[in-house]
Amino acid sequence: MIRQSSFGVASIAHMKSQRRLRLAAAIVAFACYLSAPIPAAGVRTHSEMGYRAVVKNFDQAEEMLPGLGSFFQGDGIWSAFFSGCSFPDWGYDGGLNPDASEYSHWGPFRERYVKLLKERFPPPWDEKERMHVAFFFGSLVHCVTDIPWHFNHDGHRAFEGLAKEKDGSDADVTGDIFLQMDHKLPVDVIRFWWPRGMVLDTFALQDKLKVTPEQLEKGFKKLQAAHAASRAAAKMTGWHFKSRHPWCAEHYEDYYYGGVEHGAALAAMWIKRYYAELNGWHYYQQMPVYGIGAPDYVPYTGCADAAISSADPDSNAGGEPFLSVGGRGAAAERRALIRFDVSDIPAGAKIRSAKLWLYQDAATPDAGGEIAVAAFGMDRPWQAGKGRSDEVTGTDGVPAAEGDVTWRTAMEGGVPVKSGDCCAGVGCSQDAGQVAVAKIPAETPSARWRCWDVTEMARGWIECPDANNGLVLMAVAGEGVVRFYSSDAFKEQADGFGGGARIAGRPTLIIVPEMRD
Ligand SMILES: [Zn+2]
Repeated sequence: MIRQSSFGVASIAHMKSQRRLRLAAAIVAFACYLSAPIPAAGVRTHSEMGYRAVVKNFDQAEEMLPGLGSFFQGDGIWSAFFSGCSFPDWGYDGGLNPDASEYSHWGPFRERYVKLLKERFPPPWDEKERMHVAFFFGSLVHCVTDIPWHFNHDGHRAFEGLAKEKDGSDADVTGDIFLQMDHKLPVDVIRFWWPRGMVLDTFALQDKLKVTPEQLEKGFKKLQAAHAASRAAAKMTGWHFKSRHPWCAEHYEDYYYGGVEHGAALAAMWIKRYYAELNGWHYYQQMPVYGIGAPDYVPYTGCADAAISSADPDSNAGGEPFLSVGGRGAAAERRALIRFDVSDIPAGAKIRSAKLWLYQDAATPDAGGEIAVAAFGMDRPWQAGKGRSDEVTGTDGVPAAEGDVTWRTAMEGGVPVKSGDCCAGVGCSQDAGQVAVAKIPAETPSARWRCWDVTEMARGWIECPDANNGLVLMAVAGEGVVRFYSSDAFKEQADGFGGGARIAGRPTLIIVPEMRD
């Protein structure tokens, strides 16, 4: 049988007569598509960002967050996920219910949705329940990726506005069309799946905006039509769009601020964070701060980190994209300081485990043999600072500003590890045998997560937040240097066209509480 994607036509003769119909249908669909712009990144673009979050940014996901590695399996899950990726724009078109549609993009709606998910679908999830969670993850993808797509912030130009300026693109439309031409999703035709009850019940948890089942139904139909229309438009006139919008065609994927790859990395961070929350775990990773504040967008920003180097004892590197650890002898030793604010966990809470994950950069310079990197609790407060020599390649820092941490201030009097009277008797294991060590073959660098079990230290951070000075990573055996992404990792190339995916590799702390039965 000849497989004809969405048309299901098996015979060549039949296809020929169908061709004219298809042409007419596509022109109509395309006209509708352009006359009914959807004021957000296109529905196909959000789906692509979600898809790539999973297939490109979930390295070792199963090790980090058990169950996540196999979560996205099966056509039903993908369909629910992609439906979610489209969902928040449901009410804009035709003035259906724009205020409610806008509301479904932001934090207050999200938090209410999560509350219902927790009540109704505690893990472990069967397939149907997993679809509910996948839909939520999809909507999360849409909402967070909309931000750098649409909004400039702090010198960063959002993709949408830049594309308009560069070649007159309406990026919401062109992005969708290019993706329909250039890439396939894992399900050929999305069988849209809408958790109507959950959506309506979430809206019902506030009383300012009224949403009727009929409105929602209409909105879902429009989203489905928009998907179909961009497919048709891509087939009909995609080549035309590419020649008219060359900048957008070249950079809709690799632009570091709002492009597809950046959106995918951002989406991956947020999916992991909520996957952890739905399981009762805690996920800490420095999220990008955009031009949208609380309660609409509430990123975690409680991680501080800075590399220090004996070769530059008065430099501060708190704003560099890399943390390097190791060295060749005492004259060129590098260490890294990291601290996570975990004060959202109440004192007295018992934890089962705490693991620190750092993403090793593939292109570690000055690699050597195998080195062993150990994590020790820091005994004194330190301020990370913002010292930065280069936003893409920097690791050494610049002369420190007053009060910012340097090798000299952090390492005065020898390695400043905690000992003796730790906070409330927890978090003080510093015996060599009890400290977490990662053995890293530095001579064959490959990009991957490295892990340290910091459970004992984290107990101290939870018990006494004021005494949480974080930890220091240092080489305890071997020669060579390994380089990890820091909490400031962002751009991959100075020109901004490297993807902006480094954010997904920022240092991560995952804490699993003792679960009640
Ligand atoms: Zn939107």
